Amino acid sequence: MEERLQKVLAQAGVASRRKCEEIILAGDVTVNGQVVTELGTKVTPGVDQIEVNGESISFEQKVYILLNKPRGVVTTAYDPQGRKTVIDLIDVPERIYPVGRLDLDTAGLLILTNDGALANGLMHPSKEIDKTYRTWVRGTVKPEAIKELSNGVELEDGMTAPAKVRLIEKEGDETLLEIVIHEGRNRQVRRMCEAVGHPVKSLMRVQLAFLKLGRLRYGEYRPLTPLEIDRLY
Ligand code: URA
Repeated sequence: MEERLQKVLAQAGVASRRKCEEIILAGDVTVNGQVVTELGTKVTPGVDQIEVNGESISFEQKVYILLNKPRGVVTTAYDPQGRKTVIDLIDVPERIYPVGRLDLDTAGLLILTNDGALANGLMHPSKEIDKTYRTWVRGTVKPEAIKELSNGVELEDGMTAPAKVRLIEKEGDETLLEIVIHEGRNRQVRRMCEAVGHPVKSLMRVQLAFLKLGRLRYGEYRPLTPLEIDRLY
């Protein structure tokens, strides 16, 4: 079906309709290899080849998935060693990818999407998005260790930012902690706990921003609601 070029660009997520009109007028858009500057030019999505600054626009439906990642599954789209990946767990036709990373042995909340703008926004350090982890660590954690974790710990890549840390439960020689951080360094929670003398036994992400796992069991997933997507933007 033919539609106006600016509408097609806006629907493909290029920019707002107004901004798309400016982009067309600036001569940045080609249709089948020809620069088009006339607003209202009719095009057929999926048939006409439309490019903005030399890049094809995508008509793929945007997909947003919240997964409860099980342990033992890698957080990449493809694993050269042939291990199971988080993508293998999700049955959608679109090409989606994980937002951020959980270690092989970490379980819990992971977002997957094909919306690059949302993914980049969520991962940008300036957004300081809270990530909440529950971890069973070795030993009985004393208040001094909690304070140290909360204030910041010296790691090999520098001091960690202040974190919210609380003791949830003790059992035998292990302690369950809840740790909220907004940084996303490699193996950060494991390294923080190790640094204060309490190696991690198990680790799970239970919350990201306002999103929680709810009743999802390991390996289960659900689409985000339109309201949740709006709130993440
Ligand atoms: N911190 C870790 O150590 N591992 C994760 O997977 C996530 C946060």
